[in-house]
Amino acid sequence: MGESRRKIPNPIKREVRQRCGFGCVICGLPLYEYEHMTEWAKTKRHVADEITLLCNRHHAEKTRGLLPIADVVKANENPKNLRSGDSAPYDLHFSGETCLVSMGSNRARHFFSQSPVANALVIDGFPVIKFEKISDHLLLSLRIERRDGKRILEIDNNELKYSIDSWDIELVGTSLTVRGGLRKILAEIKFDPTQGVTISRGTFARAGHVIRVEPDYMFDEKRNVRMSNSFVDGCPGWAFAF
Ligand SMILES: [Zn+2]
Repeated sequence: MGESRRKIPNPIKREVRQRCGFGCVICGLPLYEYEHMTEWAKTKRHVADEITLLCNRHHAEKTRGLLPIADVVKANENPKNLRSGDSAPYDLHFSGETCLVSMGSNRARHFFSQSPVANALVIDGFPVIKFEKISDHLLLSLRIERRDGKRILEIDNNELKYSIDSWDIELVGTSLTVRGGLRKILAEIKFDPTQGVTISRGTFARAGHVIRVEPDYMFDEKRNVRMSNSFVDGCPGWAFAF
C-alpha cells in the first residue's frame, strides 16, 4: 500500500460517499474505508467510479478472498443504503456515572446518582435529547431535523441512523457531520463515550417550536432568545415551554 493510495482527494471521496449512500455498499454501516475495486497496483489512480465504500469486516473479507470482487462490484452498483434510504444502524457506546451535554457554548452535567434519566433538551414537555441509564447501559436518544421537519439523523437508544438524502454525511473519528451543500453544515455532533455528547450545529424541533444550535450559542427561534456560555452542574439540561 503506497502513500499515494491513502491520499484520495476530498472531492473524489465525497463523490464516492454520495454514490455509495454514505455507508458500506454491502451492509450500509456508517464506518467504512475507501476501497479501490480494481487492484491499486494495476490502476494507480484515484477515479471515483473505481472506488467504493466497505466496512472493516467486508474490507477484510475482500482482502482475504472470502468476498468475491464480483459481489463487491454488484453491491457498488446497487448500494445497500440507497435501497433502504437510511444508513444501517450503528450502535454507539456510552458509559460513566455522569453525562455532559454541550449545545453551542452551553453545557449541562447530569449525575446519574440523582436520577437514571437525564432529559437534556425538552421542548413543550417532550424530551428531544435524552440520556438514560438502564442497568449498566447508558443510552442516548435524539433527533435532528431539517427546517422542513424532515429527519436528518436520529439516535434511538444509542442506535444511530441517518437519512441518506443529505448532500454529504461523514463520520470521522468521533464526529458526525451532515452537510446540505458546500460550507453548509446542517448537523455537527461529537460523541465522547465517557463524557457525553457535543452538538455544535443542529436544529431541534417539536410541535412547530425550533431550537437552533450554532457553535457559539443556542437560539430559541420563537422567543428570539440566544443563550451562550452557560454551565449548569447537576442539572440534565434545558427545558423550553411555550
Ligand atoms: Zn459492510
